[in-house]
Amino acid sequence: MYLVLLGAPGSGKGTAGKVIAEDLELAHISTGDLFRENLKNETELGKEAKQYMDKGELVPDEVTIKMLKDRLAKADVKNGAVLDGFPRTEVQAKCLDDMLNEMGTKVDMALNIDVPFDEIVERIANRRSCRGCSEIYNVVFNPPKVEGICDKCGGELYQREDQKPEVVENRLKVYSQSAEELINHYEKAGVLYNAKAGDSVGKTSFDIAKEVEEYIKNN
Ligand code: ADP
Ligand code: ZN
Repeated sequence: MYLVLLGAPGSGKGTAGKVIAEDLELAHISTGDLFRENLKNETELGKEAKQYMDKGELVPDEVTIKMLKDRLAKADVKNGAVLDGFPRTEVQAKCLDDMLNEMGTKVDMALNIDVPFDEIVERIANRRSCRGCSEIYNVVFNPPKVEGICDKCGGELYQREDQKPEVVENRLKVYSQSAEELINHYEKAGVLYNAKAGDSVGKTSFDIAKEVEEYIKNN
C-alpha cells in the first residue's frame, strides 16, 4: 500500500502520516526529514539542499527524486509507505508513478488535508520540532509533557529556521503553485481522498488518521 500525503505545510499531514504509517505498518518517508538528516550530517546533498530550504523553496527535482528512489529501495518499505512531502509537483508525481510502476505497484490513495491558510500561519508559529528524533509538537494542541523537551527521546525542542513568518509565507506560496495540479493528478487517477481539517476546535491530525484507516478498511 502506498499512500501520498497532500496538504500545505502546517496542515498536520506529518502527524497524521506518522500515525497511519505506524498503525498500518508502513514505512514513513518524509522528504523534509530526509533533507534535514542530510543537513545534520553535513552531506553533499545536505549542503546543496540547504540553500533552497532556508528560503522555503523547492529543492531541484533531480536531487529530490534520486533521494526518494534510494529510500524506496530500503528493506523497511516491503509493505509499502506513507509519503510525506513527495510528490510536491506534477513532474515528481509522474516520476513516482513510474518508479512504483517499475516496482509493480501504484499509489493507492492520495490524502489531501485542507486547512485555511490563516490558520496554518498560526499553527506553524506554535510548532516545535525535536532535535533528536524530529518529532513534531504544537505548543497549543499537542504540547510535550515537559515544556521544551521531547516526550519520545528527551531531546531539545526548537523552532525550525523555515518556520519564521516570512519563510512560511513563501512555503505557502510555493505550495499553492502546485497544489492544484497535484490534486488533479490524483483525482484523475481516482485515488484522491479529501479530509477537511476544520477549524481549531475541529478535527485533529489523530482524528484524520483514524478516519483514513477506517476508510481503507472498508474499501
Ligand atoms: P513542510 O513543513 O513544508 O511540510 P517539509 O519538512 O516537508 O516541510 O520540507 C522542508 C523543505 O524541504 C521544503 O521547504 C523544501 O525546501 C524541501 N523539500 C521537501 N520535500 C521536497 C520535495 N518533494 N521537492 C522539493 N523540495 C522538497
Ligand atoms: Zn525526540
